[in-house]
Amino acid sequence: MANKIEVIKGDITKVTVDAIVNAANSSLMGGGGVDGAIHRAGGPEILEECKMIVARQGGCKTGEAVITTGGRLPAKFVIHTVGPVWHGGHNGESEKLANCYKNALSVAVENNCKTIAFPNISTGVYGFPKDKAAIIAVNTVTEVLGLETSIDKVIFVCFDEENYQLIKEQIAVH
Ligand code: ADP
Repeated sequence: MANKIEVIKGDITKVTVDAIVNAANSSLMGGGGVDGAIHRAGGPEILEECKMIVARQGGCKTGEAVITTGGRLPAKFVIHTVGPVWHGGHNGESEKLANCYKNALSVAVENNCKTIAFPNISTGVYGFPKDKAAIIAVNTVTEVLGLETSIDKVIFVCFDEENYQLIKEQIAVH
């Protein structure tokens, strides 16, 4: 499984994969950080599809995931998941973060995506401690890859050096 997991430092909007994952908010209407970068680079088609999802199901709950086109991105699809806001760790934050990775990967499998790139969900404005988030991210992805043989590659695309080092360490222990 470990050979299917990679880490790179960079901008997720530039990565050519079947699907990139967005750390969205529950409104699905865009925002700052990676969410803003994805909508800017991918163009208005992504927001149009997000609006249709909101009309149908009223947004996206924490830990859940929905899929749209990748618009002008090199990635075919964007899978939007909503990470938990860190409130000290006793509000189910870890389980919710694990659900983001699990649900994003199941949506990827349902849509025949074989290569998927993740940002470090919740570690920006949502304040999840990066060390804890890295353990959950790599453990959860490793677990899913043990069950979902249709996925060829999961790439963690880290924007900052700290996340890059932390994810690299976690991949090494698996
Ligand atoms: P959240 O609200 O889930 O914390 P943020 O977008 O604030 O979402 O941050 C999540 C992570 O995405 C952070 O580690 C941030 O550094 C990173 N990030 C921001 N822009 C990009 C980008 N273009 N590509 C990859 N990661 C990014």
